[in-house]
Amino acid sequence: MDDFIPYGRQAIDDDDIQAVIDVLKSDWLTTGPAVSAFEKAFTDVTGTRFATAVSNGTAALHAAMFALDIKPGDEVIVPAITFAASANAVLYQGGTPVFADVDPDTLLIDPASIDECVTEKTRAVVAVDYAGQPCDYDQIRPLCDQHGLKLVVDACHALGASYKGRPAGVIGDINVFSFHPVKHITTGEGGMVATDKPEYDEKVKIFRNHGITADNRQRALQGKWFYEMTALGYNYRLSDIQCALGLSQLKKLPQWIKKRREVADRYDRLFSHSDMIHPLAVRPDVEHAYHLYVVQIDVDRGGVFTIMRQAGIGVNVHYIPVYLHPYYRDLGYKTGLCPKAEAAYGRILTLPMFPGLGDEQIQRTAATLAGAVDHLRNG
Ligand SMILES: *Cc1c(COP(=O)(O)O)cnc(C)c1O
Repeated sequence: MDDFIPYGRQAIDDDDIQAVIDVLKSDWLTTGPAVSAFEKAFTDVTGTRFATAVSNGTAALHAAMFALDIKPGDEVIVPAITFAASANAVLYQGGTPVFADVDPDTLLIDPASIDECVTEKTRAVVAVDYAGQPCDYDQIRPLCDQHGLKLVVDACHALGASYKGRPAGVIGDINVFSFHPVKHITTGEGGMVATDKPEYDEKVKIFRNHGITADNRQRALQGKWFYEMTALGYNYRLSDIQCALGLSQLKKLPQWIKKRREVADRYDRLFSHSDMIHPLAVRPDVEHAYHLYVVQIDVDRGGVFTIMRQAGIGVNVHYIPVYLHPYYRDLGYKTGLCPKAEAAYGRILTLPMFPGLGDEQIQRTAATLAGAVDHLRNG
């Protein structure tokens, strides 16, 4: 359909294209200077001492679990409502994800539920800044400290967000980002691990390069051939081609965040009079990055979804509680584990949200949604 409105879409301009062309004509296609330039620019946004580029957000989560030395027998608390990768990374290391329930108004991990999930085996918490809203870190951080847990922030939705004036991505012991095309900036595929702790950063840099202690370029520059593999790492590198694109995209982040907030504001106003369409709550102490705009609706969500898609509006559902996926059910997780997450799952709908979304598209989306809800309410 020509006038189909997707739920998310990248924006690539001539500067982005030129940046990629420049790298293609240069000496380094990977492990070159564009990688460190992107990483350096990224630390200016996150405010962390270190940032390490990796091949995607999932690799970033895996690297975080490796850096924290998560291993078989260890438990890691993860919210029920997130992309599966947040929990899968725990499984990659042989650990056990333990699912915490969410706050029904924000769908962010509920600190009280974290507290209930802690056992002697718990090693870390993965807090997901769902939709782009930072979690309740003034509650979560002391909880982690009290129980001796490390905090990983899955900030894949939250680049450009802040919590009480602190940028998302500086709050966790380790913070991870994704540059998939639907996220705030894109490198095609890509991810970043940001931390203040040199020991974690060193482990992540080794992990992304087969567990080898020096990379190609370092060796070439030093005129050396010798290297050692000290851990079982992976090839999780991000190429210079991708990093040049990321660096160029990063320059546009502030204006894009502003645009996303304007879109959210428009939707908020359009739904302010509805008693059936409820945008997720936003706490006053956060600057939301609006990766997603999610509403909860009081009529049959499946019916609304179908009407919206038939009208050419790319609505989505983020997310199925992770443990309800067949793979997790086979591991023994059962329906009923996180009742609030399960109830929310039946009511949530993600509306189109990206910087290039036009006002006419916003109005069409809101009007179609209101019409669908009315239609279903009246049977
Ligand atoms: C996108 C996303 C990831 C994974 O990122 P990829 O780059 O697609 O691997 C992980 N967690 C959350 C919450 C995400 O939205």
